[in-house]
Amino acid sequence: MQLEFPRGAKDWIDRQKSDRVNSGIMSKCTNCSGTGKVPCPTCHGVGFSSRTDEDGETINRLCSFCGGERKIRCGFCRGTGEVAAVHESAPPQPTVNRPRPAPVDRLAGRWNGIEGTWVEFTPDANGYRTTAGGMRGITGCGTATLLGSKVTLDATDQLCGHYTLELNLRGNHLDGIDRKAGYPIPVEFVRA
Ligand SMILES: [Zn+2]
Ligand SMILES: [Zn+2]
Repeated sequence: MQLEFPRGAKDWIDRQKSDRVNSGIMSKCTNCSGTGKVPCPTCHGVGFSSRTDEDGETINRLCSFCGGERKIRCGFCRGTGEVAAVHESAPPQPTVNRPRPAPVDRLAGRWNGIEGTWVEFTPDANGYRTTAGGMRGITGCGTATLLGSKVTLDATDQLCGHYTLELNLRGNHLDGIDRKAGYPIPVEFVRA
């Protein structure tokens, strides 16, 4: 969801900004497009996180990072929407509390889940080869694709047979709802 100014008000604000830009003192912040706010990196601008519990009920939890505001102050222009023109060519500064920089490949490697479970992704021509396991060793294998922050796993498990699993990738966290046992189990993996 996007909040919008009434058209007239926005034009007026843009005009004020471009006057100052033309004077050579300030320019529009490229990090937030001059709005002074950027979508919350934790909830991706949704304002809350939702997950499904064992009874299939959806639980919405207010995002603790933005407090449900959905947007946070732009760290590059400190919420003003403008930066000094001399800094325009400088790369945007990282905003506060940004998650640890992800490795070049966001998904490749080993991820650890609960109770000794793990999943490993190896990049190949079509996406990733996937191996899943637990404390007793490998329990399944298959393929995975990464689209935006959505990981879709298509695998065969020794016990449960063929299954698909969608996971959300957020930095060093992978979470989703595993239904291969016939009922939903929230799963979470952390980069090993
Ligand atoms: Zn948030
Ligand atoms: Zn900004």
